[in-house]
Amino acid sequence: MDEKEKNNEQHQERGKEPDVLDSTQTVIHKALGKLGYSDEVYELMKEPMRMMTVRIPVKMDDGSTQIFTGYRAQHNDAIGPTKGGVRFHPDVTETEVKALSIWMSLKAGIVNLPYGGGKGGIVCDPRNMSFPEVERLSRGYVRAISQIVGPTKDIPAPDVLTNSQIMAWMMDEYSRMKEFDSPGFITGKPIVLGGSHGRESATAKGVTISIKEAAKRKGIHLEGARIAIQGFGNAGSFLAKFMHDAGAKVVGISDVQGALYDPEGLDVDYLLDRRDSFGTVSNLFKNTISNHELLELECDILVPAAIENQITEENADRIKANIVVEAANGPTTMRATEILYDRGILVVPDVLASSGGVTVSYFEWVQNNQGYYWEEEEVEEKLEKLMVQAFDNVYRVAQMRNVDMRLAAYMVGVRKMAEASRFRGWI
Ligand code: GLU
Repeated sequence: MDEKEKNNEQHQERGKEPDVLDSTQTVIHKALGKLGYSDEVYELMKEPMRMMTVRIPVKMDDGSTQIFTGYRAQHNDAIGPTKGGVRFHPDVTETEVKALSIWMSLKAGIVNLPYGGGKGGIVCDPRNMSFPEVERLSRGYVRAISQIVGPTKDIPAPDVLTNSQIMAWMMDEYSRMKEFDSPGFITGKPIVLGGSHGRESATAKGVTISIKEAAKRKGIHLEGARIAIQGFGNAGSFLAKFMHDAGAKVVGISDVQGALYDPEGLDVDYLLDRRDSFGTVSNLFKNTISNHELLELECDILVPAAIENQITEENADRIKANIVVEAANGPTTMRATEILYDRGILVVPDVLASSGGVTVSYFEWVQNNQGYYWEEEEVEEKLEKLMVQAFDNVYRVAQMRNVDMRLAAYMVGVRKMAEASRFRGWI
């Protein structure tokens, strides 16, 4: 047993699952081992190559000054600039941002984008801040990290609780500082500022493609299939719509406050219409169930589209779906993945299923660099092609090597990065 596995074993003895970074490192280690790479390669890849912590003073509306902590992690730039979102959330930690940057490297590798992974986060709760306060915080963050980001260095994007308006403020701040227009500094922008058609719904489109591919492999017809979605934010809400339009029955959806369930299928259009800007809708109803009950619903397809660590060792035995497609980053713990695999449940991992967002971000960046913009159909066609190829590739490796799809995805995801690092003479 190597040190990594021993460490995780100790966590288990203490009855605690390893944290997101620990488990990511364990799977990276396994993937590199299966590919025959040495421990030096693992040493390079287990942590971001660059990590910046910043303190951002922001003038609040009441005249006081509040200091926020922010991070930007750049995992590996052997293939190209690093790329990944910025999340605004009270639970953001340095460890989480590091793990998320590694996942971005894997996504880029799996879909074959010319990027390494990056990620940013600010410890804050934008739901309790005014618009001008969020604007000042966004601009302050860009000023604080400006030396290490840029269209050919590291390209931010939206993530949890950030959106196209925040991207617009960040792009404006960067362009002003550099004194030239820099649309390629950030993706997920509003269309008028160089955003791409199809970017807003891209994560959900990618998840939809993954669901279709997984359903095919499992012999499930989407028409009439029962699907439960945890989360009604960007990914969850578009996904509910796409699934509903494809003839599936959306039997459950949830938001931070609770979940709605109807075995006959929910009225998705009505719920989309009534949700507030943070995706909350369950507060309008009396007969709600909890987020945890939603995960255990009788259904064919389960999509965790909210936050980390939702399917754990504790509830993995009670999951009834045949397919779990991870639209969120890190919703299933390492031990839960093993339990689901042993039970024959197909888990399509986050680094594959949720890579539609960064894929269309890449298209946005390409369009910005060319100054030539594509129509929505072109974006969708290209996204579909890359995602189907990526799914096929990961599924084939999983079958051939007799491993779960997460490990297969990690194997596909790290390979090019390791090769590029070797050609550069780093390892
Ligand atoms: N935040 C998204 C993700 O986790 C998108 C990143 C991007 O578009 O660069 O994949």
